[in-house]
Amino acid sequence: MEIKTVNTQKVLSPTQISLADYVINPYKGCEFGCLYCYAQENKNIDKNNFFDSLAVKINAPQILEKELRYKKPKRVLLGSTTECFPAQELNFKVTGKILEILNSKQIPYTILAKSHLIANYLELISKNPGNKIFFTFNFQSDELIRLFEKKSPVLKQRLQTIRKIIAARINLRVHIGPFIPYVSDLEKILKLIPKGVKEIDIELYHPKQGNFNQIIKAVRENVAEETSKKLEAVYRCEKNYREFIKNLKAKAESLNDYPNLKLYWINPAFNQFYNSQIKYT
Ligand code: SF4
Repeated sequence: MEIKTVNTQKVLSPTQISLADYVINPYKGCEFGCLYCYAQENKNIDKNNFFDSLAVKINAPQILEKELRYKKPKRVLLGSTTECFPAQELNFKVTGKILEILNSKQIPYTILAKSHLIANYLELISKNPGNKIFFTFNFQSDELIRLFEKKSPVLKQRLQTIRKIIAARINLRVHIGPFIPYVSDLEKILKLIPKGVKEIDIELYHPKQGNFNQIIKAVRENVAEETSKKLEAVYRCEKNYREFIKNLKAKAESLNDYPNLKLYWINPAFNQFYNSQIKYT
């Protein structure tokens, strides 16, 4: 992977994602290489080398301090188009410095992550009780993680991280997303998720923006041809799509035997592109 440092002109970007009013992405590119990655479709991103190069926005903390003199975010979302805790964060600590600045100004933030390295910053994140982590846990085996999220942390690392977040008493939502029909196994995933998790959301994969053909090919060649056919059928027409969601919801409710566990759903409409206006409850 090519690593380069860049100077950015702007750090805080207004967003329509319902989780915050501004986003920050301390890096450009992502080493995890998820086959379904929606971020690649972002208009500001060079799709051709998104997984092969990582631009470290080295001056982001300084620019953020300047911007906060005149921008007043109510909440900031970190990691909408990158992973904020890649291996390179251990050297550059750009995300860490950003979190310190937001803490010092008492601006709450929500972090989207699937890296176990977020655990290095739990003490920092816990300083503001308004902070929240959405941590991705969407497959039940390391084989599936390697197939769909080439270089991301494996099950054991993710489960340990979830336990550490719970122990640090930080608001946590486990994000089962994208949930890939007939590949992601809800029952097995829910069984793996540690006790103590109080919120889970399930975001169904949406083919309009992810790499649907590549996903079908990966499933056909590495899971089973029959599974790839069932997966294709879900997205063949709106009726199948709705039916799948209805059955999945019923199954999820029947599997949820923890009285304090809340389930949330993020399902884009069948014919709409995945977009930033989807409501995260
Ligand atoms: S971790 Fe997120 S940004 Fe990185 S490749 Fe995966 S989906 Fe894309």
